[in-house]
Amino acid sequence: MNDTAIRHVKPPVAPDQFEYKNLKQGEFWRHIPAYKDVDEATFLDHLWQQKHAVKTSEELLSTIKDVCSPQFFADAAEGFSRAPMAVRVSPYAISLIDWNDPIADPIRRQFVPLASGLLPDHPRLTLDSLHEQDDSPVPGLVHRYVDKALFLPLNTCPVYCRFCTRSYAIGPDTENVDKVALAKTPKQWEDAFRYIAERPELEDIVISGGDTYQLPPKNIELIGNALLDIPHVRRMRFATKGPAIMPMKIITHTEWLDAITAIVDRGRKMGKEVVLHTHFNAPEEITWITEKAMRILFERGIFTRNQSVLIRGVNDTRERMQLLVKRLGHLNVHAYYVYMHDMVKGVEELRTTIHTATDTEKFVRGSTAGFNTPTFVCDAPGGGGKRDVHSYEYYDRVNGIAVYAAPSVKPGKAFLYFDPIDKLSVDAQARWAVREIQDQMIHEAVRKAGIGDEQLVLA
Ligand SMILES: *Cc1c(COP(=O)(O)O)cnc(C)c1O
Ligand code: SF4
Repeated sequence: MNDTAIRHVKPPVAPDQFEYKNLKQGEFWRHIPAYKDVDEATFLDHLWQQKHAVKTSEELLSTIKDVCSPQFFADAAEGFSRAPMAVRVSPYAISLIDWNDPIADPIRRQFVPLASGLLPDHPRLTLDSLHEQDDSPVPGLVHRYVDKALFLPLNTCPVYCRFCTRSYAIGPDTENVDKVALAKTPKQWEDAFRYIAERPELEDIVISGGDTYQLPPKNIELIGNALLDIPHVRRMRFATKGPAIMPMKIITHTEWLDAITAIVDRGRKMGKEVVLHTHFNAPEEITWITEKAMRILFERGIFTRNQSVLIRGVNDTRERMQLLVKRLGHLNVHAYYVYMHDMVKGVEELRTTIHTATDTEKFVRGSTAGFNTPTFVCDAPGGGGKRDVHSYEYYDRVNGIAVYAAPSVKPGKAFLYFDPIDKLSVDAQARWAVREIQDQMIHEAVRKAGIGDEQLVLA
């Protein structure tokens, strides 16, 4: 080769770039005092996982025992009693928490409330921030977008996420919230099926909840077949948090997996798409057990997409989100969405700013295949629906006010998302302390957004 030729060789990547392949191995649960004698077959048993879920601070204490300090347990006990969501954490998730540093741990932050971490709610926050009940024609069905609807067949989940958007309905009543009733029985679901059958524009049904993991196999088939039988329904998605916090169910609950497979296979023969939507948030949720479970889904031809929530201290940095996205791709799970954390009560310390989202989005784009790259969205409070996070009409970054328009969903309206106040400057925080100044700042942001010549109705 002559020495003027230029070879464009990319430098080798640093070893830490392969961290996404480095999944937790072995019997990692054995370091938890209550699980030290639990063998692999028992730990992989989904019934054992369900039965040993931690629901109270006393159960937490008897599971992790003296690994944490008495102060920590006092903090947790107070956190449990103040939380708007009931608590339920699977042994799988418990064993992935670093109990030497539980305050900062990304899995603890999602599921175990601590009183010490709580921040005051944003002054503009309401309980059902997405106004799902305003778009609900029959109990348990949300029809917001023209051609798709959200079916909520039950109100329980294998774990309860502190940040759940549906804390107004999901889980048992808590000291702070009486939950709205959803339709929870096959008899009650008939109203939803009838409504869907009468609306030919509805092609796409999301079965969420609550959680598909909680549906017994016969009800998966009942719902799946009822929807497949409606000629205009072309696409269905079963949504579940399960694989992220109890992947063993896919390995050991054969009847459940067979029911999902039967609906997917029947749909395929009818030319209809049936897929699974998962909800991984932290790279640590993915272990050798997850890999094994997702491999089974892949072999059965069950296509899987993931929806994450952008959560402070869990996945809100460039590196953490990139690691999560690459790890999902490695498992053949398409990273579909990353949501702004909804404006939910009692979890202000988990929210982050629109600017953090756009910065993370910019970094992740270009890291891997485009189809494995998530779209970052803000589900606009007030019922505007999902908006590309960077598509705001105006963003007052100093005061943390983003204004979105949703022309095909609610034309002529402005929808507002507010950054958490503790992430703003001291001056901006002082402005938020005064109601009249809040109103002025919001009015100004909406005016600058210029949707509908100030004739707009606020969310
Ligand atoms: C998210 C959502 C859907 C599905 O929206 P996609 O953008 O297609 O994933 C449908 N209905 C409601 C009410 C939703 O919130
Ligand atoms: S699994 Fe989904 S519906 Fe259930 S608590 Fe978590 S976010 Fe809410």
